[in-house]
Amino acid sequence: MESGGVLREKEKRLRFNTKLIHGGTSPGPYGATKTPIVQASAFAYDTAEELEDIFRGRAIGQVYTRIGNPTLEMLEKRLAAVEDGIAAIVTASGMAAITTAVMAVVRSGDEVLSSSSLFGGTYSLFHDTLANFGISTHFVDPVDLAAVEDGINDKTRLIFVETIGNPKMDVPDIASFAAVAKKHGIPLMVDATVSTPYLARSKDLGADIIVHSTSKYINGTANSIGGAIIDAGSFNWQNPKFQHFEQFHRKYRSFAFTARVRKLIHKDFGACAAPLNSFLSGEGLETLALRMERHCCNAMEVARFLQAHEKVAWVNYPGLEDSPFHEVAKRQFAGRFGGLLTFGLADRATAFRVINNLRLARNLANIGDTKTLVIHPASTICADYPPEVKALMGVSEEQVRVSVGIEDIEDILEDFAAALETA
Ligand SMILES: *Cc1c(COP(=O)(O)O)cnc(C)c1O
Repeated sequence: MESGGVLREKEKRLRFNTKLIHGGTSPGPYGATKTPIVQASAFAYDTAEELEDIFRGRAIGQVYTRIGNPTLEMLEKRLAAVEDGIAAIVTASGMAAITTAVMAVVRSGDEVLSSSSLFGGTYSLFHDTLANFGISTHFVDPVDLAAVEDGINDKTRLIFVETIGNPKMDVPDIASFAAVAKKHGIPLMVDATVSTPYLARSKDLGADIIVHSTSKYINGTANSIGGAIIDAGSFNWQNPKFQHFEQFHRKYRSFAFTARVRKLIHKDFGACAAPLNSFLSGEGLETLALRMERHCCNAMEVARFLQAHEKVAWVNYPGLEDSPFHEVAKRQFAGRFGGLLTFGLADRATAFRVINNLRLARNLANIGDTKTLVIHPASTICADYPPEVKALMGVSEEQVRVSVGIEDIEDILEDFAAALETA
Protein backbone atom coordinates (compact mmCIF):
# COMPACT_ATOMS: atom_id res chain seq x y z
CA MET A 1 0.00 0.00 0.00
CA GLU A 2 1.92 3.02 -1.18
CA SER A 3 -0.29 5.90 -0.06
CA GLY A 4 -0.23 7.72 3.25
CA GLY A 5 -1.35 6.72 6.71
CA VAL A 6 0.50 3.41 6.82
CA LEU A 7 2.54 2.70 9.88
CA ARG A 8 6.29 2.24 9.96
CA GLU A 9 7.56 -0.88 11.76
CA LYS A 10 9.64 0.97 14.32
CA GLU A 11 6.70 3.10 15.44
CA LYS A 12 4.73 0.01 16.41
CA ARG A 13 7.18 -0.71 19.23
CA LEU A 14 6.81 2.62 21.03
CA ARG A 15 4.67 2.82 24.19
CA PHE A 16 1.34 4.68 24.39
CA ASN A 17 2.47 8.10 25.64
CA THR A 18 5.50 8.10 23.36
CA LYS A 19 3.32 7.25 20.36
CA LEU A 20 1.01 10.17 21.19
CA ILE A 21 3.98 12.51 20.81
CA HIS A 22 6.34 10.89 18.32
CA GLY A 23 4.05 8.71 16.19
CA GLY A 24 3.99 9.84 12.57
CA THR A 25 6.29 12.81 12.98
CA SER A 26 8.63 13.77 10.24
CA PRO A 27 11.10 16.60 10.70
CA GLY A 28 10.23 19.90 9.12
CA PRO A 29 12.61 22.14 7.15
CA TYR A 30 15.20 24.21 9.09
CA GLY A 31 15.18 21.56 11.84
CA ALA A 32 11.60 22.45 12.79
CA THR A 33 10.28 20.02 15.40
CA LYS A 34 6.81 20.09 13.90
CA THR A 35 5.40 18.52 10.78
CA PRO A 36 4.78 21.55 8.56
CA ILE A 37 1.26 22.71 7.76
CA VAL A 38 1.35 22.01 4.04
CA GLN A 39 -1.39 24.41 3.01
CA ALA A 40 -1.38 23.33 -0.62
CA SER A 41 -4.05 21.78 -2.83
CA ALA A 42 -1.75 20.01 -5.28
CA PHE A 43 1.81 18.77 -5.67
CA ALA A 44 3.98 19.33 -8.77
CA TYR A 45 6.51 16.97 -10.41
CA ASP A 46 9.22 17.76 -12.91
CA THR A 47 8.31 15.18 -15.47
CA ALA A 48 5.21 13.57 -16.92
CA GLU A 49 6.83 10.18 -16.20
CA GLU A 50 7.10 10.88 -12.46
CA LEU A 51 3.46 11.85 -12.16
CA GLU A 52 2.40 8.82 -14.19
CA ASP A 53 4.38 6.56 -11.84
CA ILE A 54 2.59 8.03 -8.83
CA PHE A 55 -0.83 7.64 -10.41
CA ARG A 56 -0.05 4.05 -11.33
CA GLY A 57 1.21 3.24 -7.84
CA ARG A 58 4.80 2.61 -8.98
CA ALA A 59 6.18 5.50 -6.93
CA ILE A 60 5.17 7.20 -3.68
CA GLY A 61 4.13 10.84 -3.72
CA GLN A 62 1.41 13.32 -2.91
CA VAL A 63 -0.92 14.36 -5.71
CA TYR A 64 -3.87 16.35 -4.44
CA THR A 65 -4.97 17.13 -0.87
CA ARG A 66 -8.37 15.45 -1.24
CA ILE A 67 -6.43 12.19 -1.72
CA GLY A 68 -3.57 12.90 0.69
CA ASN A 69 -1.31 15.57 2.16
CA PRO A 70 1.83 15.42 4.36
CA THR A 71 0.14 17.18 7.29
CA LEU A 72 -2.84 14.82 7.14
CA GLU A 73 -0.42 11.91 6.89
CA MET A 74 1.31 12.95 10.14
CA LEU A 75 -2.02 12.66 12.01
CA GLU A 76 -2.94 9.45 10.19
CA LYS A 77 0.32 7.74 11.12
CA ARG A 78 0.12 8.93 14.70
CA LEU A 79 -3.47 7.73 15.13
CA ALA A 80 -2.65 4.38 13.50
CA ALA A 81 0.28 4.03 15.94
CA VAL A 82 -1.79 4.99 18.97
CA GLU A 83 -4.65 2.64 18.07
CA ASP A 84 -2.26 -0.15 17.01
CA GLY A 85 -3.91 -0.22 13.59
CA ILE A 86 -2.28 -0.86 10.23
CA ALA A 87 -3.40 2.45 8.69
CA ALA A 88 -5.62 5.47 9.27
CA ILE A 89 -7.46 8.03 7.17
CA VAL A 90 -8.41 11.43 8.54
CA THR A 91 -11.57 13.17 7.40
CA ALA A 92 -13.35 16.53 7.57
CA SER A 93 -15.42 15.54 10.63
CA GLY A 94 -16.43 12.61 12.79
CA MET A 95 -19.61 12.23 10.75
CA ALA A 96 -17.50 12.18 7.56
CA ALA A 97 -15.41 9.37 9.08
CA ILE A 98 -18.50 7.34 10.02
CA THR A 99 -20.27 7.92 6.70
CA THR A 100 -17.16 7.11 4.65
CA ALA A 101 -16.25 4.01 6.66
CA VAL A 102 -19.80 2.63 6.65
CA MET A 103 -20.28 3.29 2.92
CA ALA A 104 -17.02 1.48 2.21
CA VAL A 105 -18.41 -1.67 3.83
CA VAL A 106 -22.09 -1.79 2.83
CA ARG A 107 -23.95 -1.74 -0.47
CA SER A 108 -27.58 -1.19 -1.36
CA GLY A 109 -29.68 -4.07 -0.03
CA ASP A 110 -27.29 -4.75 2.88
CA GLU A 111 -28.14 -4.35 6.54
CA VAL A 112 -26.32 -2.76 9.45
CA LEU A 113 -26.80 -4.03 12.97
CA SER A 114 -26.28 -1.08 15.30
CA SER A 115 -26.49 -0.25 18.95
CA SER A 116 -29.57 1.91 19.55
CA SER A 117 -27.57 4.08 21.92
CA LEU A 118 -25.93 6.40 19.43
CA PHE A 119 -24.70 9.92 18.84
CA GLY A 120 -27.59 11.81 17.18
CA GLY A 121 -25.86 12.31 13.83
CA THR A 122 -25.03 8.62 13.54
CA TYR A 123 -28.61 7.68 14.42
CA SER A 124 -30.00 9.89 11.67
CA LEU A 125 -27.37 8.65 9.18
CA PHE A 126 -28.53 5.08 9.79
CA HIS A 127 -32.21 5.73 10.32
CA ASP A 128 -32.86 8.26 7.53
CA THR A 129 -30.02 8.92 5.11
CA LEU A 130 -28.75 5.37 4.50
CA ALA A 131 -32.32 4.02 4.51
CA ASN A 132 -32.96 6.25 1.47
CA PHE A 133 -30.13 4.46 -0.35
CA GLY A 134 -31.49 0.97 0.37
CA ILE A 135 -29.33 0.26 3.41
CA SER A 136 -31.43 -0.58 6.42
CA THR A 137 -30.32 -0.61 10.02
CA HIS A 138 -31.50 -2.95 12.70
CA PHE A 139 -31.19 -1.19 16.08
CA VAL A 140 -30.64 -3.25 19.21
CA ASP A 141 -30.12 -2.48 22.88
CA PRO A 142 -26.34 -2.97 23.17
CA VAL A 143 -26.69 -4.52 26.60
CA ASP A 144 -29.00 -7.26 25.30
CA LEU A 145 -26.53 -9.62 23.66
CA ALA A 146 -29.24 -12.12 22.77
CA ALA A 147 -30.92 -9.36 20.73
CA VAL A 148 -27.60 -8.57 19.05
CA GLU A 149 -27.26 -12.18 17.97
CA ASP A 150 -30.94 -12.38 16.93
CA GLY A 151 -30.62 -9.19 14.89
CA ILE A 152 -28.14 -10.75 12.49
CA ASN A 153 -29.38 -12.25 9.24
CA ASP A 154 -27.84 -13.15 5.89
CA LYS A 155 -27.97 -9.51 4.76
CA THR A 156 -26.04 -8.12 7.74
CA ARG A 157 -22.69 -6.72 6.66
CA LEU A 158 -21.65 -4.52 9.57
CA ILE A 159 -22.00 -4.32 13.35
CA PHE A 160 -21.70 -0.80 14.79
CA VAL A 161 -21.35 0.23 18.42
CA GLU A 162 -20.13 3.17 20.54
CA THR A 163 -17.72 2.44 23.39
CA ILE A 164 -19.63 4.76 25.73
CA GLY A 165 -23.10 5.77 24.55
CA ASN A 166 -23.52 9.55 24.20
CA PRO A 167 -25.66 10.72 26.02
CA LYS A 168 -27.01 7.43 27.43
CA MET A 169 -23.72 6.67 29.22
CA ASP A 170 -24.20 2.95 28.70
CA VAL A 171 -21.08 0.84 28.27
CA PRO A 172 -21.53 -2.16 25.99
CA ASP A 173 -19.24 -5.13 26.43
CA ILE A 174 -17.27 -4.64 23.20
CA ALA A 175 -15.56 -8.03 23.40
CA SER A 176 -18.98 -9.75 23.34
CA PHE A 177 -19.93 -7.75 20.24
CA ALA A 178 -16.63 -8.78 18.69
CA ALA A 179 -17.35 -12.44 19.43
CA VAL A 180 -20.74 -12.22 17.66
CA ALA A 181 -19.15 -10.37 14.72
CA LYS A 182 -16.39 -12.93 14.41
CA LYS A 183 -18.80 -15.86 14.58
CA HIS A 184 -20.81 -14.44 11.66
CA GLY A 185 -17.85 -13.20 9.59
CA ILE A 186 -18.96 -9.55 9.82
CA PRO A 187 -16.68 -6.61 10.67
CA LEU A 188 -17.16 -4.73 13.95
CA MET A 189 -16.95 -0.93 13.66
CA VAL A 190 -16.50 0.93 16.94
CA ASP A 191 -17.00 4.67 17.53
CA ALA A 192 -14.46 5.31 20.29
CA THR A 193 -14.89 9.10 20.44
CA VAL A 194 -16.06 9.21 24.07
CA SER A 195 -13.62 6.63 25.48
CA THR A 196 -10.61 7.68 23.35
CA PRO A 197 -7.64 5.32 23.00
CA TYR A 198 -6.64 6.42 26.52
CA LEU A 199 -9.42 4.37 28.18
CA ALA A 200 -8.90 1.37 25.91
CA ARG A 201 -7.54 0.51 22.51
CA SER A 202 -10.62 -0.65 20.66
CA LYS A 203 -8.55 -3.12 18.63
CA ASP A 204 -7.65 -4.92 21.86
CA LEU A 205 -11.39 -5.25 22.58
CA GLY A 206 -11.96 -6.78 19.14
CA ALA A 207 -12.83 -3.84 16.86
CA ASP A 208 -11.96 -4.29 13.18
CA ILE A 209 -12.53 -0.65 12.25
CA ILE A 210 -12.31 2.26 14.69
CA VAL A 211 -13.88 5.66 14.00
CA HIS A 212 -13.32 8.88 15.92
CA SER A 213 -14.60 12.39 16.00
CA THR A 214 -11.22 14.04 16.58
CA SER A 215 -13.20 17.25 17.20
CA LYS A 216 -13.67 16.08 20.81
CA TYR A 217 -10.97 14.73 23.17
CA ILE A 218 -8.29 14.12 20.54
CA ASN A 219 -8.17 17.75 19.45
CA GLY A 220 -8.99 18.55 23.04
CA THR A 221 -9.28 22.31 22.87
CA ALA A 222 -12.26 22.66 20.51
CA ASN A 223 -10.45 24.45 17.73
CA SER A 224 -11.01 22.07 14.77
CA ILE A 225 -13.65 19.70 13.51
CA GLY A 226 -12.20 16.42 12.26
CA GLY A 227 -12.58 12.67 12.11
CA ALA A 228 -10.54 9.53 11.62
CA ILE A 229 -10.97 5.96 10.40
CA ILE A 230 -8.48 3.41 11.71
CA ASP A 231 -8.06 0.01 10.09
CA ALA A 232 -7.17 -2.53 12.78
CA GLY A 233 -6.14 -4.96 10.05
CA SER A 234 -7.96 -7.78 11.82
CA PHE A 235 -10.82 -8.54 9.42
CA ASN A 236 -10.41 -10.96 6.56
CA TRP A 237 -12.08 -9.26 3.59
CA GLN A 238 -11.61 -12.32 1.42
CA ASN A 239 -15.10 -13.43 2.26
CA PRO A 240 -18.03 -14.24 -0.06
CA LYS A 241 -20.09 -11.59 1.78
CA PHE A 242 -17.63 -8.92 0.60
CA GLN A 243 -17.16 -9.55 -3.09
CA HIS A 244 -16.91 -5.80 -3.60
CA PHE A 245 -13.57 -6.01 -1.76
CA GLU A 246 -12.15 -8.65 -4.06
CA GLN A 247 -10.18 -6.35 -6.37
CA PHE A 248 -8.74 -4.51 -3.34
CA HIS A 249 -7.88 -7.72 -1.54
CA ARG A 250 -6.12 -9.10 -4.60
CA LYS A 251 -3.89 -6.07 -4.88
CA TYR A 252 -3.58 -4.81 -1.30
CA ARG A 253 -4.14 -7.98 0.81
CA SER A 254 -4.62 -7.03 4.49
CA PHE A 255 -4.92 -3.36 3.47
CA ALA A 256 -8.08 -4.08 1.43
CA PHE A 257 -10.35 -1.92 3.61
CA THR A 258 -7.95 1.04 3.72
CA ALA A 259 -7.46 0.80 -0.05
CA ARG A 260 -11.20 0.71 -0.74
CA VAL A 261 -11.71 3.76 1.50
CA ARG A 262 -8.81 5.78 0.19
CA LYS A 263 -8.93 4.88 -3.47
CA LEU A 264 -12.68 4.80 -3.90
CA ILE A 265 -15.12 5.94 -1.22
CA HIS A 266 -13.14 8.74 0.46
CA LYS A 267 -11.82 9.92 -2.90
CA ASP A 268 -15.35 10.03 -4.33
CA PHE A 269 -17.18 11.50 -1.31
CA GLY A 270 -14.37 14.00 -0.87
CA ALA A 271 -14.89 14.75 2.82
CA CYS A 272 -11.16 15.33 3.31
CA ALA A 273 -9.56 16.92 6.35
CA ALA A 274 -7.97 20.37 6.15
CA PRO A 275 -4.19 20.61 6.72
CA LEU A 276 -4.49 23.25 9.44
CA ASN A 277 -7.17 21.25 11.28
CA SER A 278 -5.03 18.11 11.09
CA PHE A 279 -2.03 20.00 12.44
CA LEU A 280 -4.07 21.34 15.37
CA SER A 281 -5.57 17.94 16.14
CA GLY A 282 -2.09 16.41 16.05
CA GLU A 283 -1.01 19.03 18.60
CA GLY A 284 -3.97 18.02 20.76
CA LEU A 285 -3.23 14.33 20.50
CA GLU A 286 0.19 14.85 22.11
CA THR A 287 -1.45 15.67 25.45
CA LEU A 288 -4.41 13.26 25.23
CA ALA A 289 -3.29 11.01 28.08
CA LEU A 290 -2.56 13.86 30.49
CA ARG A 291 -5.85 15.57 29.75
CA MET A 292 -7.87 12.34 29.94
CA GLU A 293 -6.34 11.53 33.31
CA ARG A 294 -7.64 14.86 34.63
CA HIS A 295 -10.99 14.59 32.79
CA CYS A 296 -11.55 11.20 34.45
CA CYS A 297 -10.55 12.39 37.96
CA ASN A 298 -12.62 15.55 37.73
CA ALA A 299 -15.66 13.71 36.34
CA MET A 300 -15.56 11.23 39.22
CA GLU A 301 -15.53 14.12 41.72
CA VAL A 302 -18.37 15.94 39.96
CA ALA A 303 -20.40 12.70 39.85
CA ARG A 304 -19.89 12.09 43.58
CA PHE A 305 -20.69 15.72 44.42
CA LEU A 306 -23.90 15.68 42.37
CA GLN A 307 -24.94 12.29 43.76
CA ALA A 308 -24.75 13.67 47.29
CA HIS A 309 -26.71 16.85 46.44
CA GLU A 310 -30.32 17.03 47.63
CA LYS A 311 -31.56 18.78 44.48
CA VAL A 312 -30.12 16.13 42.17
CA ALA A 313 -32.50 13.25 41.42
CA TRP A 314 -29.97 10.91 39.80
CA VAL A 315 -26.47 10.80 38.33
CA ASN A 316 -25.45 8.60 35.41
CA TYR A 317 -21.69 7.99 35.31
CA PRO A 318 -20.12 4.58 34.74
CA GLY A 319 -17.57 5.38 37.46
CA LEU A 320 -20.26 5.32 40.16
CA GLU A 321 -20.76 1.93 41.81
CA ASP A 322 -24.53 2.14 41.32
CA SER A 323 -24.22 2.46 37.52
CA PRO A 324 -25.42 -0.74 35.85
CA PHE A 325 -22.37 -0.38 33.59
CA HIS A 326 -19.81 0.03 36.38
CA GLU A 327 -18.44 -3.51 36.29
CA VAL A 328 -18.07 -3.78 32.52
CA ALA A 329 -16.57 -0.25 32.31
CA LYS A 330 -14.12 -1.01 35.12
CA ARG A 331 -12.92 -4.16 33.36
CA GLN A 332 -12.95 -2.76 29.85
CA PHE A 333 -11.33 0.59 30.65
CA ALA A 334 -8.92 -0.51 33.39
CA GLY A 335 -10.67 1.46 36.13
CA ARG A 336 -11.09 4.71 34.18
CA PHE A 337 -14.49 6.03 33.20
CA GLY A 338 -14.09 9.10 30.99
CA GLY A 339 -15.13 12.73 31.30
CA LEU A 340 -18.82 12.60 30.39
CA LEU A 341 -21.82 12.26 32.71
CA THR A 342 -25.49 13.12 32.89
CA PHE A 343 -27.64 14.05 35.86
CA GLY A 344 -31.31 14.67 36.52
CA LEU A 345 -33.07 17.54 38.32
CA ALA A 346 -36.70 17.73 39.49
CA ASP A 347 -37.94 18.72 36.04
CA ARG A 348 -37.05 20.54 32.81
CA ALA A 349 -37.51 24.01 34.32
CA THR A 350 -35.04 23.25 37.10
CA ALA A 351 -32.57 21.81 34.57
CA PHE A 352 -32.80 25.05 32.57
CA ARG A 353 -32.30 27.17 35.73
CA VAL A 354 -29.19 25.18 36.70
CA ILE A 355 -27.72 25.65 33.21
CA ASN A 356 -28.53 29.36 33.27
CA ASN A 357 -26.99 29.76 36.75
CA LEU A 358 -23.65 28.15 35.86
CA ARG A 359 -20.86 30.69 35.38
CA LEU A 360 -17.76 28.61 34.56
CA ALA A 361 -19.43 25.72 32.70
CA ARG A 362 -20.40 26.79 29.20
CA ASN A 363 -23.78 25.88 27.66
CA LEU A 364 -22.97 24.51 24.21
CA ALA A 365 -23.22 21.52 21.88
CA ASN A 366 -19.81 19.89 22.24
CA ILE A 367 -17.84 17.51 24.45
CA GLY A 368 -14.18 16.87 25.15
CA ASP A 369 -12.98 20.46 25.51
CA THR A 370 -10.60 21.52 28.28
CA LYS A 371 -13.52 23.64 29.55
CA THR A 372 -16.47 22.17 31.45
CA LEU A 373 -19.50 22.11 29.14
CA VAL A 374 -23.19 21.52 29.79
CA ILE A 375 -26.24 21.04 27.60
CA HIS A 376 -29.91 20.08 27.91
CA PRO A 377 -29.99 17.25 25.32
CA ALA A 378 -33.81 16.91 25.07
CA SER A 379 -34.29 20.48 23.80
CA THR A 380 -31.12 20.73 21.68
CA ILE A 381 -29.06 17.90 20.16
CA CYS A 382 -31.92 15.39 20.52
CA ALA A 383 -34.85 17.80 20.01
CA ASP A 384 -35.82 16.39 16.61
CA TYR A 385 -36.41 12.85 17.81
CA PRO A 386 -39.86 11.53 18.76
CA PRO A 387 -40.38 10.61 22.43
CA GLU A 388 -39.85 6.87 21.88
CA VAL A 389 -36.48 7.49 20.18
CA LYS A 390 -35.49 9.89 22.97
CA ALA A 391 -36.30 7.16 25.47
CA LEU A 392 -34.21 4.66 23.51
CA MET A 393 -31.31 7.11 23.54
CA GLY A 394 -31.66 7.71 27.28
CA VAL A 395 -32.73 11.34 26.84
CA SER A 396 -35.15 12.86 29.34
CA GLU A 397 -36.55 16.33 30.04
CA GLU A 398 -34.99 16.74 33.49
CA GLN A 399 -31.53 15.68 32.24
CA VAL A 400 -28.35 17.76 31.90
CA ARG A 401 -25.23 16.41 30.19
CA VAL A 402 -21.85 17.51 31.52
CA SER A 403 -18.54 17.22 29.73
CA VAL A 404 -16.27 17.73 32.71
CA GLY A 405 -13.24 19.89 31.91
CA ILE A 406 -9.73 20.01 33.31
CA GLU A 407 -10.09 23.18 35.40
CA ASP A 408 -9.28 23.03 39.12
CA ILE A 409 -11.90 20.73 40.59
CA GLU A 410 -12.69 23.17 43.44
CA ASP A 411 -13.78 25.80 40.91
CA ILE A 412 -15.97 23.32 39.01
CA LEU A 413 -17.66 22.09 42.19
CA GLU A 414 -18.19 25.66 43.46
CA ASP A 415 -19.81 26.54 40.14
CA PHE A 416 -22.26 23.61 40.35
CA ALA A 417 -22.89 24.20 44.07
CA ALA A 418 -23.84 27.83 43.43
CA ALA A 419 -25.95 26.98 40.38
CA LEU A 420 -27.90 24.31 42.27
CA GLU A 421 -28.31 26.53 45.35
CA THR A 422 -30.45 29.10 43.53
CA ALA A 423 -32.11 26.77 41.00
C1 LIG B 1 -19.37 14.36 18.03
C2 LIG B 1 -19.51 12.92 17.77
C3 LIG B 1 -19.59 12.42 16.46
C4 LIG B 1 -19.59 13.32 15.25
O1 LIG B 1 -18.39 14.02 15.12
P1 LIG B 1 -18.27 15.45 14.36
O2 LIG B 1 -16.81 15.70 14.39
O3 LIG B 1 -19.09 16.43 15.14
O4 LIG B 1 -18.81 15.25 12.98
C5 LIG B 1 -19.69 11.06 16.30
N1 LIG B 1 -19.73 10.22 17.35
C6 LIG B 1 -19.68 10.66 18.62
C7 LIG B 1 -19.74 9.68 19.74
C8 LIG B 1 -19.56 12.02 18.89
O5 LIG B 1 -19.52 12.46 20.15
